[in-house]
Amino acid sequence: MITFEELGLDARLVQAVTELGYVNPTQIQEKAIPVLLSGTKDFIGLAQTGTGKTAAFGLPLLNIINADDRYPQALIVCPTRELCMQIVNELEHFKKHIRGVSVVAVYGGASIGIQIRDLKKGVQIVVATPGRLIDLIERKAIDLGQIKYVVLDEADEMLNMGFKDDIEFILQNTPQRESTWLFSATMPPEIRKVSKKYMKEPFEVTVGKVNSGNKNIDHQYYITSAQHRYETLKRLIDFNPGIYGIIFTRTKVDAQDIAEKLTREGYDIDALHGDLTQAQRDKVMGEFRDKTLQLLIATDVAARGIDVQGITHVINYELPDDIEVYTHRSGRTGRAGNTGICMSIVHARETFKLKAIEKLIQSTFNRVDIPTGKDVCRKQFYAVMDKLLETDITHGDYDTYLPMLEEKFADVSKEDILKRLAAVEFDRFLKYYENAEDLNLRDNGRQKPREFGADRGAQGNNRERTRFEPRGERQERGERAERGSYGGGGATPGYARLFVNLGTKDGFYKASFLQFILDMSDLKKEVLGRIDMKDMNSWVEVEQGASHQMIRCLDGKNYKGRRIRMNDANSR
Ligand code: AMP
Repeated sequence: MITFEELGLDARLVQAVTELGYVNPTQIQEKAIPVLLSGTKDFIGLAQTGTGKTAAFGLPLLNIINADDRYPQALIVCPTRELCMQIVNELEHFKKHIRGVSVVAVYGGASIGIQIRDLKKGVQIVVATPGRLIDLIERKAIDLGQIKYVVLDEADEMLNMGFKDDIEFILQNTPQRESTWLFSATMPPEIRKVSKKYMKEPFEVTVGKVNSGNKNIDHQYYITSAQHRYETLKRLIDFNPGIYGIIFTRTKVDAQDIAEKLTREGYDIDALHGDLTQAQRDKVMGEFRDKTLQLLIATDVAARGIDVQGITHVINYELPDDIEVYTHRSGRTGRAGNTGICMSIVHARETFKLKAIEKLIQSTFNRVDIPTGKDVCRKQFYAVMDKLLETDITHGDYDTYLPMLEEKFADVSKEDILKRLAAVEFDRFLKYYENAEDLNLRDNGRQKPREFGADRGAQGNNRERTRFEPRGERQERGERAERGSYGGGGATPGYARLFVNLGTKDGFYKASFLQFILDMSDLKKEVLGRIDMKDMNSWVEVEQGASHQMIRCLDGKNYKGRRIRMNDANSR
């Protein structure tokens, strides 16, 4: 295996990385560093976060800038404040033995005055988010005139966040640029376009497969109905007592609501979303990093660039709208050679997305049963007992108390003590899950989820892991959902198809009709499947669990003097 010395790095940098505990370069470092040390070659590195890409560009940058010239020579642009700070933090470690090199971070949400003052002190490397950088350029508070090296980190994220014009502006305003180094996890066409426009015959390196997910991640999905999403989330958390995870939601309202609900129910969780002040964000992130918080719930934008080690689980409360986002979410776990689990709570109507994601991550999803109440209790029970056995009793003066304890428990058997301990520790779960319902959305028994007993070998319940369903079926269902076809009148699995004698002649168009039936039934739009409107009547797909409520609330009611008739179309 090659060493850092052999890559051609300055001895002071080699010493610093050795002190950080890096033994050998990672794949991206091995491929990038020798090329980037030339300083004149444009470079594209397709690598996920967690592959060591910060050092891949950070070390050569520190090697080739001139410490005697106190003006900005290198510019690193990245999507978020967190990433900015992480990069600066790593560079600080790398440059530990090099004198006279300054690195400054400039990002939004913090005092621009202080950043301007820092820049004036004379710096060689600026790490910036696009918005704040443009602000500084416009205020003439930063001089990019002598920037030789521009690094675009997490370029795909920056494009996703709408920074394309800003990036082009930055590239256009670095006239002395000798090389551009672009790092990205994925390679959407827009990035190709930017690279074609601003880079000269870039040296391209791919680590792993482009767009591919990390192979250390077990991608699991759980199918439930919309109204059971929250309950499913709780069950997944309860079934994983040692979880240290991030839950992703699509909206900040969801992130906030779920965090509040779970906190009320005794979970260690806080939310990270765009409405927080910088101080609040820092507090939440600090607590999560210290593991004072076991769970973080975040929107995609708020969580971008976060590099927290040791995350065991990522939970998608919903699948992201843009499937590329799935890679970024799941990539928060399974880092630095560890394994991780990415769990997605999926609605029957969303299953078609899974196939597209599988293609993107080049890995298969495993459908897993949502654990039953009993599963959760058993798991919690074993966790309590493991904790008991693993508790260190070598420190502390427990022997002093032993005679007293022995006297107190003289007439209680060992079995009883164990039972009592278990009752104290997990009574809450027993009570809560006593009559817990099955949250799985079953689909005509065609599809076989992987059951929770599957990996519980020690408990003598070692069933084989079963792949969920033949790809063909899922694809067909997905395509049907996309085509909007009713397949000759049959409902999508998991849905009831309801007939209603209201149509466009009643003055409805689709959106107003949808709003009307939801208002009447007090149901959420997630329970709805396809809507097929005709002049005089319509057909609505409603999740099986919610269809009775819909019928009960609409059938027999009046609309503009007309009696509404609603019934299950397939049982007529
Ligand atoms: P990155 O992809 O830059 O976010 O890096 C992921 C993590 O890997 C960071 O915590 C780095 O400190 C760590 N790391 C980077 N390079 C190496 C290396 N050669 N050996 C061990 N750890 C590394």
